[in-house]
Amino acid sequence: MTRLIFLGLPGSGKGTQAAILAGLLNIPHISTGDILRNAIAQVTPLGQKAQSYMDRGELVPDELILDLIRDRLNQPDAQNGWILDGFPRNVSQAAFLEQLLQELNQACDRAINLEVPDEVVVVRLLARKRPDDTEQTIRRRLEVYHEETAPLIDFYRERSVLSSINGDRPPEEVTESLHHLVNG
Ligand code: ADP
Repeated sequence: MTRLIFLGLPGSGKGTQAAILAGLLNIPHISTGDILRNAIAQVTPLGQKAQSYMDRGELVPDELILDLIRDRLNQPDAQNGWILDGFPRNVSQAAFLEQLLQELNQACDRAINLEVPDEVVVVRLLARKRPDDTEQTIRRRLEVYHEETAPLIDFYRERSVLSSINGDRPPEEVTESLHHLVNG
């Protein structure tokens, strides 16, 4: 049973690594970004509400995310572990998650911070060409990360579950370090 939270800048590779690790561990990879992008593609009410925030590189309001996470963690496949990617993204989401996990009688094993310098992720994101990967949006997403999400590094360090991994290496090496971390 493994329950992991992935932290890292946009472009740090956390989505890629979370998917690989979830496959290896046979647990669901829960990406709030993917859930929101699907909602936008399917033009659901959630997608319609989220789109303008995502286009600007802002976080979508917590009220759009919290019920979604509660429902997802209550699904049968999430009872055997999970990897959260893109959630929590600010301190209030982390506080909500802590409360929710208590209610579910679960606990997160580790919060893994995938460390990559800002200059490196900018280059990676500009090469990736997702619709929200314009230069202006990237700049805003990095700002939002430093302001809202980076405080979670201390949040999880204080709870003694933080691990850091150097993400500025070839993807296979990063995967190997992660694998080692969760199995060791
Ligand atoms: P990245 O980490 O590259 O920015 P994500 O797929 O994780 O990519 O997120 C894309 C966008 O989705 C974010 O910029 C934000 O607008 C929105 N988003 C994803 N997760 C959350 C969340 N937990 N809270 C608020 N907004 C979110």
